[in-house]
Amino acid sequence: MGKPTGFMGRQRLSEAYEPPEARLKHYREFVATLNDEQTRVQGSRCMDCGIPFCTNGCPVNNIIPDWNDLVYRGNWKQALDVLHSTNNFPDFTGRICPAPCEAACTLNINNEAVGIKSIEHAIVDKGWQMGWIVPKPPQTKTGKKVAVVGSGPAGLATAQQLARAGHDVTVFEKSARVGGLLAYGIPDFKLEKTVVDRRVKQMEAEGVVFRTKVIVGSKDLPPGINNDASSFVSAEQISKDFDAVVLAAGSELPRELPIPGRELKGVYAALEFLIPQNKQVAGGKSNPINAKGKHVVVIGGGDTGSDCVGTSYRHGAASVTQFELMPQPPEEENRPLTWPYWPLKLRTSSSHMEGETQRMFSISTKEFLGENGVLKSLKTVELEWKSGKMKEVAGSEKVIPADLVFLAMGFMNPVGSLLDAFGVEKDARGNAKATTDGDGCYATSAAKVFAAGDTRRGQSLVVWAIREGRQCAREVDAFLMGSSTLPR
Ligand SMILES: Cc1cc2nc3c(=O)[nH]c(=O)nc-3n(C[C@H](O)[C@H](O)[C@H](O)COP(=O)(O)OP(=O)(O)OC[C@H]3O[C@@H](n4cnc5c(N)ncnc54)[C@H](O)[C@@H]3O)c2cc1C
Ligand code: SF4
Repeated sequence: MGKPTGFMGRQRLSEAYEPPEARLKHYREFVATLNDEQTRVQGSRCMDCGIPFCTNGCPVNNIIPDWNDLVYRGNWKQALDVLHSTNNFPDFTGRICPAPCEAACTLNINNEAVGIKSIEHAIVDKGWQMGWIVPKPPQTKTGKKVAVVGSGPAGLATAQQLARAGHDVTVFEKSARVGGLLAYGIPDFKLEKTVVDRRVKQMEAEGVVFRTKVIVGSKDLPPGINNDASSFVSAEQISKDFDAVVLAAGSELPRELPIPGRELKGVYAALEFLIPQNKQVAGGKSNPINAKGKHVVVIGGGDTGSDCVGTSYRHGAASVTQFELMPQPPEEENRPLTWPYWPLKLRTSSSHMEGETQRMFSISTKEFLGENGVLKSLKTVELEWKSGKMKEVAGSEKVIPADLVFLAMGFMNPVGSLLDAFGVEKDARGNAKATTDGDGCYATSAAKVFAAGDTRRGQSLVVWAIREGRQCAREVDAFLMGSSTLPR
């Protein structure tokens, strides 16, 4: 530990944001990375706990106290190596992870947690600036061929680990760009796409082949799912050409709201708005959905909803309202009760703060109302929650004007036809069935077919996708070679 009393004398310093009036004029990232001295001071707040709860709270088990200490001592290069030893892409998580490690930090019991995410962000950005992040091609090749279906964080982590183990890895992606939701869901103002692209270049130099605009298994996609594919490869062909297959195809089926008026012009699934926006920012054609001057209602309170809020403000929406079915959580958690777990509390994102977002809780939408096929308003009802059960409050119906509604109520499961094409058994929620522990983990019911990320666990987080990709890669390596030295 660098400074035993660091946490007593030093306050937590969070990363600064560009003010809303400036950042709303563009789609670039607006968070200022801590400078070297600020990062050093923040690193010194770490107590190097005997049991580092932060490491347990982190899905990739980042060795947080070690890099905090290394940064405090000015040994940035080694801090980067320790960071990369558990996480292929700290540049993604350092930007968009909700940081369960910080909720688990011992200081979070009665003080402010160590700013772990901002230290991670500073280390990896310095790594790129200094030219320390370079391709690591394998010393020897195995001659084994692996197909990875899907290029989100799970597919990328799997592919990088397997390529570094010497296998010939091909990543198939139906979209035009590599990155999954990193490229086509999460807005640029949270994660600029150059951050993904430079990793893709690194992986290409390590031998990974990316085949974009290629859809695998089945062309039968439900409406509204992004598909830029110009060619198709069948499951039979992939199974014939490769020694192992990893399905890392995400969980793309959005949760629907099948109420009267759903068909009105103006009611969209969140990604119908966010994907064209990312394409526009990347130089593509204009987003056909424009929120300028519109009254926007976002139904659903998670990351996806929040991204619709921030994007609507950048368009110049007249107002933004967000609905949440659940009751409003407390502003502060009861720490002695919740620590070291992820607490339920009111989370206000940077997007919420970019305007006067009206957030309504315990509210349900009964009907979308329109004129001549165009949305004009929605009918809502208040909910009462008792013992985990909800009941509509009689007489609480209201009509709220709305020009645009974005449905951001989460995602159900991966597209079933892909799993069916490979003959993969599904779990009760429609995800690819595979365990994460014990013999044969990450293997599906189909011979030599594995699954990782949202396809296996259901919609989740980038950091979980990276964990699953890494762990799955180890299982695939062991399956191909009899044993593996890849970390789990
Ligand atoms: C709008 C939004 C914002 C989010 N914000 C955050 C956040 O701030 N922080 C966070 O941690 N998490 C966030 N998440 C969740 C996170 O993005 C996902 O959990 C994560 O990307 C899952 O990774 P994955 O690799 O499993 O799947 P994905 O990222 O979904 O990638 C799957 C890829 O597979 C491709 N694919 C699917 N089927 C086929 C096929 N048949 N053939 C070829 N390719 C195929 C898809 O086109 C896609 O590119 C957000 C999600 C959304 C929707
Ligand atoms: S729990 Fe917090 S204080 Fe303890 S080692 Fe981890 S980051 Fe440092």
